[in-house]
Amino acid sequence: MEEHQKPIVQVLQKHFDISNPTISGMEGYESKNYKIECTDQCYVLKIYDASVANKASIDGETHILTKLQNLKGYNFPVPIKSNSGANWIEESDTLYRLLSFVTGTFLGNIPRNKSMAHELGAFLAQMDTMTIEMYDAPTMAKQPPWDLRHFYKNEPLIKYIPNPKHRSLVTYFYLQFKEMVLPHQEELRMGIVHNDANEWNVLTCNNSISGIIDFGDMCHTWTINNLAVAITYYMMGQENPLEYAVELIEGYHALRPLDVLELDVLYYLIAARLCTSVCNSAYAKKQNPDSEYITISEESAWNLVHVWLTINPIAAQNTFRKAAGYPPLQTNALEKQLELRKQFISNSLSLSYTAPIHMVRSAFQYMYDAKGNTILDAYNNIMLVGHCHPKVVQAAQRTFARLNTNTRYVYDELQSYSEKLLSKFPDSLNKVFFVNSGSAASDLAIRLAQTHTKKRKVMVMEHGYHGNTRLGIDISHYKYGHKGGPGKRDYILEASIPKIFGAGFGSEAEATKFYVEKTHKEIQNHELEISAFIAEPIIGCGGQVPLPKDYLKNIYPKIRAQGGVCISDEVQVGFGRLGKYFWGYEMYDVVPDIVIIGKPMGNGHPMGAVITTTEIAQSFENGLEFFSSFGGNPVSCAIGEAVLDVIHEEHLDTEAQNTGSYLKGRLKELGKQYPEIADVRGEGLFLGVEIMDEKFQPDTMFAQYLKNGLRMESILIGTDGPADNVLKIKPPLYFNKENCDMLLSQIEKLLQKK
Ligand code: PMP
Repeated sequence: MEEHQKPIVQVLQKHFDISNPTISGMEGYESKNYKIECTDQCYVLKIYDASVANKASIDGETHILTKLQNLKGYNFPVPIKSNSGANWIEESDTLYRLLSFVTGTFLGNIPRNKSMAHELGAFLAQMDTMTIEMYDAPTMAKQPPWDLRHFYKNEPLIKYIPNPKHRSLVTYFYLQFKEMVLPHQEELRMGIVHNDANEWNVLTCNNSISGIIDFGDMCHTWTINNLAVAITYYMMGQENPLEYAVELIEGYHALRPLDVLELDVLYYLIAARLCTSVCNSAYAKKQNPDSEYITISEESAWNLVHVWLTINPIAAQNTFRKAAGYPPLQTNALEKQLELRKQFISNSLSLSYTAPIHMVRSAFQYMYDAKGNTILDAYNNIMLVGHCHPKVVQAAQRTFARLNTNTRYVYDELQSYSEKLLSKFPDSLNKVFFVNSGSAASDLAIRLAQTHTKKRKVMVMEHGYHGNTRLGIDISHYKYGHKGGPGKRDYILEASIPKIFGAGFGSEAEATKFYVEKTHKEIQNHELEISAFIAEPIIGCGGQVPLPKDYLKNIYPKIRAQGGVCISDEVQVGFGRLGKYFWGYEMYDVVPDIVIIGKPMGNGHPMGAVITTTEIAQSFENGLEFFSSFGGNPVSCAIGEAVLDVIHEEHLDTEAQNTGSYLKGRLKELGKQYPEIADVRGEGLFLGVEIMDEKFQPDTMFAQYLKNGLRMESILIGTDGPADNVLKIKPPLYFNKENCDMLLSQIEKLLQKK
């Protein structure tokens, strides 16, 4: 006999009249467990620290297990009293407790099917009906961290999850729980439940549910939690997880009807259970790297976390409601929304797609519409670090709840963010002006340039776009040159868009020479009059057109030589989207005098900024105050800083490079097969796909067909360019290889259908 088994043998002999047992160790979470085999009986001995809480728990479990013996047709452990009739024996600060050994095959050891899911639901309903009312159980003050009612207790464990993106997914679900479940905490029905019907606790016999063991997590909580836990584990590894959830709900609801509120929070409770599991696995791994038992569900739980994000919470909610015979959620009908929109909003604002989308929520690279569809977002570049990224949301919530003011006061957030933001630029670009949009930034940039240079003319790029203010329209050929646009102002000069594709050049060098010479001529014609040259590094509205590599290198010096400054509009491409290059101008080995940024800067919070040199900023210090009511406020600064931190912590720029080059490569391959894909261009996750017809003419119709076709398959992309024939792909940087594959296969299907 092993030395540590001696006290066990003594306790069994002295208090339970069991002699000569065979003792073997079993897995356990909160107690040390041993299988005790005698000639005619088999038991489980559980050993705990002799705490008051453990004594209360054991008494509670004993009470409930005793009553559960009345639930016929199922097996539960039978508590074995000691010779003196006690529930537990205390010896040397240790508690010993004996249970009968329940035989059966673990659910985890047999293939799962729908009818068994239904049975499990029915079993839990019967068990809950017996246990929920047992308030006399002398235990239930305990609040185990696995009780979803106390989900927040696991929040400090998030830090043990090694992968920063995984930490963000879990934190996202924490925020959703606070938002969607906690407001209802007083309305949810309470009772005592088993709380751990996972596949290694549920037993089966002849492919039928036969019982359950391990009542260590039993607690007084929201009764729906018991079902939520069972559903969570049952769904793991299943291709269509909701189908199994439906069976469990149907089985349960038939015997113990569920409230509609319980079904409405179920999606978030399941997510909470998954997050509890992965948090505790991460913590357990840190504490005990060799234990496989504690992390047994880790991989399947992570897989389901990822799958769960692809399920629209409204779709889940309606599926759960339907399983229990409740009507679906009421949402405003799209027709009604469109009618109201028409009433209040000008028609000069457009709606995407021939079939507009009513959006209700979003998460990372996914958006959820009111109909329950999950939409893969390959288009919204503003949500750079992902829709509703929790770090950004938390920064906003935290700061907004404490202080919001303006730059006429001193507060830490402004200094802290400015320093972090400017550290992303070369030394010469060391002053920042905060505003609230890309338009406000480009407007201010031109004012800075004109004040500094004392010149008026501005050279802009053909098909460029820089903003919606009056000045913004003046400098945006995309707008002033468009149908309905005001036309070119007298102080505006145009540089031809230096597009290589489709322009008939033999090489990039030839194209560069042509466009550089053309622009030089224009500069020469207005020598000493040009205050600024403004261009996007990849011209977005012009159809995702990158500049030839040496173009800016030849233009910037000429602009400067005649006394002007060079502005790079990084509103679309900045903040790591291009992968290798944090800012677009870095692609061309130049340093601008003024940079304007916006869109992704606040991940959806309205932010913009102008970054410039000390000299240009000083020229603006002429006695006229610059003030923006909201630019640089503490909330915006906290958000902006969170965005930078997320990019850094989650290496999202590297992800953009890897995912982007994969996608670009695969699109190019597709282009070899389908001539409609005439050009694939761009950097990182800022790509353009130019669609041409068989006569090599821009095929606007087909580009629209692809865009709208993808929309019908719940994938968002855009189109742009002078002929609106360029597919624009610029997703949140969470967009991964599987998302690329999904996009590619849908594009290919549409191409095949042509
Ligand atoms: N510059 C560029 C390159 C843009 O794409 C945009 C917006 N599409 C702007 C400036 C203007 O930004 P905002 O819409 O935030 O005013």
